[in-house]
Amino acid sequence: MNPTGLLEVTAVRRPTPRTVRVTFTGAEGWEAWPDQQLKLLFPPPGRPVRLPAGDDDVMRWYQAFLAIPEDERPVMRSYTVRGRDRGTIDVDFVLHAGGTDGPATAWARTAAPGDVLGRYGPDAAYRRPVPKADAVLLAGDETALPAIATLLSEVDNAVVFVEVPDAAEEQPLPVHWLHRDGAAHGSRLLEAVRGASLGPGSAAWLAGEAGMVRALRRHLVAERGLDKGAIEFTGYWRRALTQDDAPTPEDLADAREKLGG
Ligand SMILES: Cc1cc2nc3c(=O)[nH]c(=O)nc-3n(C[C@H](O)[C@H](O)[C@H](O)COP(=O)(O)OP(=O)(O)OC[C@H]3O[C@@H](n4cnc5c(N)ncnc54)[C@H](O)[C@@H]3O)c2cc1C
Repeated sequence: MNPTGLLEVTAVRRPTPRTVRVTFTGAEGWEAWPDQQLKLLFPPPGRPVRLPAGDDDVMRWYQAFLAIPEDERPVMRSYTVRGRDRGTIDVDFVLHAGGTDGPATAWARTAAPGDVLGRYGPDAAYRRPVPKADAVLLAGDETALPAIATLLSEVDNAVVFVEVPDAAEEQPLPVHWLHRDGAAHGSRLLEAVRGASLGPGSAAWLAGEAGMVRALRRHLVAERGLDKGAIEFTGYWRRALTQDDAPTPEDLADAREKLGG
């Protein structure tokens, strides 16, 4: 599979008021796995997407990407394959609450058949292990829902909590829904995980807003005795920071933890 290429929109739906489900062609022959991540490349408004020259080596590809003049360089954002069908994939774009649209969300609001994005990945080198244990906690916010939906078919002993803005954001999936209803982001999720029955031999998969993920992980390790190595975690987005902003000291500490340092 070519690690980079183009994706063309063939359909746009709204499964919930804040979810834009976009179907793309261009995924013929892709290998499938759950929690499949890819980088989408959004062209500057009104311009075609410009891709760096093809290269299988990710570092050389990224250098070629950075060499594209700034006014033509696409914006790169991470997303998850939510579904697939005969050479097409679905991606669910969450429309942020609170007027904080970045380029990806702004694109999704007006996406239409015929629109074209670039992509890097999915790359099996970034495939994350599916947690295995007597009990497996899957927990996240609305941005983690696409990954959780695909993990559900792989984990048969999962305890699943998903925090969404309100009841209208629920999707037909066997998870415990938590409605923010104006409460602080992640507070309902932390409360639910605190109340869940999880022995120290449990494993966990966590994703969503970075501070929320950090608080969940801290609770699981310090108060529930989970092994650090049994927790797969990723901060998907950061409050008041874009995906292009430099890592904070907390992000760097998380990265060190992931590397086992
Ligand atoms: C591996 C991975 C997989 C992901 N999969 C998905 C997915 O399938 N679907 C999905 O919707 N997102 C997913 N995300 C999250 C997505 O990449 C981020 O939300 C991203 O910041 C959106 O880009 P943007 O251009 O809209 O906003 P940016 O330009 O990055 O940020 C602009 C502003 O929006 C705020 N912001 C960003 N995201 C949110 C949010 N969700 N809610 C409220 N405010 C926000 C930022 O704090 C900032 O102030 C994933 C992230 C990762 C790392």
